[in-house]
Amino acid sequence: MAEYDFDLFVIGAGSGGVRASRMAAQFGARVAVAEDRYLGGTCVNVGCVPKKLLAYAAQFDELFRDSRGFGWDTGAPVFDWETLIRNKDREIARLNEIYRNLLINADVTLFEARASLVDAHTVQVGDQQVTAEYILLAPGGWPWVPEFPGSDLVITSNELFHLEEFPHRALIVGGGYIAVEFASILNGLGVETQLVYRRDLFLRGFDAELRQQLAEEMQRKGVKLRFATEVERIERRGEALAVQLNDGSETEVDLVLYATGRRPSTDRLGLEQVGIRTGEQGHIEVNAQFQTSVPNIYAVGDVIGGMELTPVALAQGMAVARRLFKPELDASVNLENVPTAIFSQPNMATVGLSEEAARERYGEIRVYTAKFTQLKHTLSGNPEKTLMKLVVDAASDRVVGAHMLGPDAGEIIQGLAIAIKAGATKAQFDATIGIHPTAAEEFVTMRVPAR
Ligand code: NDP
Repeated sequence: MAEYDFDLFVIGAGSGGVRASRMAAQFGARVAVAEDRYLGGTCVNVGCVPKKLLAYAAQFDELFRDSRGFGWDTGAPVFDWETLIRNKDREIARLNEIYRNLLINADVTLFEARASLVDAHTVQVGDQQVTAEYILLAPGGWPWVPEFPGSDLVITSNELFHLEEFPHRALIVGGGYIAVEFASILNGLGVETQLVYRRDLFLRGFDAELRQQLAEEMQRKGVKLRFATEVERIERRGEALAVQLNDGSETEVDLVLYATGRRPSTDRLGLEQVGIRTGEQGHIEVNAQFQTSVPNIYAVGDVIGGMELTPVALAQGMAVARRLFKPELDASVNLENVPTAIFSQPNMATVGLSEEAARERYGEIRVYTAKFTQLKHTLSGNPEKTLMKLVVDAASDRVVGAHMLGPDAGEIIQGLAIAIKAGATKAQFDATIGIHPTAAEEFVTMRVPAR
C-alpha cells in the first residue's frame, strides 16, 4: 500500500497547475489538484482569453470606418457592453467546464477548496488533510496597487471584466502589457481614455523604436498618453472621480484602472510553516528544476516570477511532470527567444533582442527596418503605419531579434520565432521567397540595413 494519499498534489488549477496535473496523471501518477476560485486560473478567467475577446470587440470601430473606402456603408454602429460581457462570460463558463473535464478524464482528483501546506507532505484542503509524495505550488498572482490617498477608489483588470457601468471617461495607470492593452481596448470601445505612466515612454525593455511608433499610433487613434506623470490622489466627486496629477493638473473621469504589476498569491499558503524560501517581491525561489528550498515541493508559473506568461507556465508544469514521473523524457525549459505580443491597437510582437539589448550584447549589429502603409489602407485611407524590424549580429549574420508593430503582429512573429530559435541567419531570411502581397513578406525582403 502506498505511503501517501497521492503521488502529486497540485495547488492551483491555472495554466501551469492543470498542465502538470494532466501530464503527471497521464504518466501514471495519482494526482490531486486544489482550486478555490476558478478553473483555468488567470488566463482563462481574467487574463489572456477574455482580454483577447475584448480586444477583438475594440477593433470593430476602426474596421467599420476602414470599410467605407471599400464601398460599405454601415450606418452609425452602436456598441453594447452588456452583450459583450454576457457573451464573454458564456464562453468562459464553457472553458471552465472544458478544464474540469480535462482533469476528470485524466483521472485527476479535483478539490474545489482552498489548500495550504501543513508540512512537507501534508496539505490542508477544505476541512481535511491529505498527504502526497510531491507537492506542486501553482497559485499564480494577483494585481497589485500602490497605496495612496484614494487608492481604494480604483479598480484593476480583474474588475474590468465585470463592470456593471460602462464608463465614458477612463484613466489607466501603468506602462506594462495590461495598461497598454486596456488603453487600446477602452479607446476602441469608445471610451475617452488617458494613460498615465511615470517614465518617458511605456513598455520598458521592448525595442525603443517600436515603443515610440506604438505611442504615436495610439495617440492618433485617440488615447491621451501622459508620460512622466504620476497620480497624487483621487477623490470622489459626485458620480465621477477627480484625479490629481503631479504636474499640477486635475482630470475628472468615471473610472481609474491600475495596471501597476502583479504579486505572487502566497497568502495563507503555509510557506513559512514548511520553510519555503521567497524572494524580495514574495516570489517562491526555485532552482532550474523548479524545486523549492523544500526538496519534494516544486513551484511553477507566476508565483515564481520571471516571464509571467501562460505558455511559459505550461512549459514549466510539463517539465515538472516529466522530471517526477517520466524522467526519460527531456524536462528542460529553455527560455531563450520567448516570443511575446502586446494586444494593443495596433498589435506589437517581438522575439529575441531589442536593438538596444543586441548592441550591448554583440557590439556590432546590423538593423533592418521597413515602415509602410499596408495595401488595405490605400483604399481605407487609414494612416496607420506598420513597422517591422530585424536585428542581426554582424559577426555571425544570425538574426537575434525580430519585431513588428502592425495588424496580426503576434501571428506573424510566432512563425518567425521558430526560425530565430533555430539560429537562422539573415542570408537564410533573404533566401526565403515571400508570399505576395502580404505585410509579412517584408521580413524576407529587407535588403539594405537602416543602421
Ligand atoms: P508589468 O509588470 O508589465 O508593468 C507594470 C507597470 O506598472 C510598469 O510600467 C511599471 O513601471 C508600473 N508601475 C509599477 N509600480 C508602480 C507604481 N508604484 N506607480 C506607478 N507605476 C508603477 O505589469 P502588468 O500589470 O501590465 O502585467 C503583469 C504581467 O502579466 C506582465 O508582466 C506580463 O508578464 C503578463 N501579461 C502578459 C500579457 C501578454 O502576454 N499579452 C498581457 C497582460 C499581462 P516601470 O516601467 O517604471 O517599472
